[in-house]
Amino acid sequence: MQKKRIYVAYTGGTLGMQPSPQGYQPVAGYLPKALQQLPQLQHSAIPDYQLQEYAPLLDSSDMQPKHWQQMANDIHARYDDYDGFVVLHGTDTMAYSAAALHYLLMGLSKPVIVTGSQIPLCEPNSDAPRNIRNAFYAAAYSPFAQVTLLFHHGLYAADSVSKVDAQQLQAFASINTEPLWQCDHTDWVFPARPSASLPSERLALGQVVEHRIAVLTLYPGVDIAWLCEQLAKPWYAVVLRTFGSGNAPQQPALLTALRDAHERGVILINRSQCWQGVENMTGYAGAHVLAQCGVQSAAGKPLEAIIAGLYCGQWSGR
Ligand code: ASP
Repeated sequence: MQKKRIYVAYTGGTLGMQPSPQGYQPVAGYLPKALQQLPQLQHSAIPDYQLQEYAPLLDSSDMQPKHWQQMANDIHARYDDYDGFVVLHGTDTMAYSAAALHYLLMGLSKPVIVTGSQIPLCEPNSDAPRNIRNAFYAAAYSPFAQVTLLFHHGLYAADSVSKVDAQQLQAFASINTEPLWQCDHTDWVFPARPSASLPSERLALGQVVEHRIAVLTLYPGVDIAWLCEQLAKPWYAVVLRTFGSGNAPQQPALLTALRDAHERGVILINRSQCWQGVENMTGYAGAHVLAQCGVQSAAGKPLEAIIAGLYCGQWSGR
């Protein structure tokens, strides 16, 4: 059987960083060489890979929607030449990029795996070797022909995952759904890829539009006048970080500002500050009033997927 071939887009992130007086920073040229020496990749089950190092390499805190488009364009342009794809990425905004790729690459019949690490490859006890090995393997053999985020013990659907821990190796969690796959030992063994049942449609490439988006967090004592001022601005969309199952203070001025924004065509989304659970627009009066002002439930999607979805045209207003 011919060896599988995967394409690896290395965008930056902790996994290829080195210490500097300013803290960890990506270093061009380091990771491609280090991977050639990595014992975890010297196994017959690891596919051949072609790695492209982006310039500049980014700490993912610097990632912008235009970078999501670049990654999607890259994969789209090479789609027919490889069996699967890996994006090596910083963990801080990895869930946003994974969600964006999920929306931009429509009709996938091959795996796209996004991964990174909490500890740089150059440090002892780094989680990079294992995540990289597992991601390379998954890009060749995962039965999930979609964009997934692979980290530590979990493989997560790209539109249902959040970074939930700044230090622990188990940095990501699945939001309102189970992980697609979990592994509590070192080897990832997937069921055989059901190639016959994969969709045969062609891959379509979506386009990012850099809309003006605001995220407004509610808290006890929040200045309602300030919120109203924000809502009066010409946003494309506003995400309200509400309480509990999607509740907000029932302040007439706030409700008027929301209604006016809705009338102007601003997309208004109700996303709870709770990670898990769904915004219920009819459970309490504090959410019912939001629905009456044109605010939509996020239906439990994580903020990362909401923001990526807004830039990728997944939401509509009135
Ligand atoms: N600041 C880093 C980044 O997101 C963190 C990481 O990769 O773990 O690029």
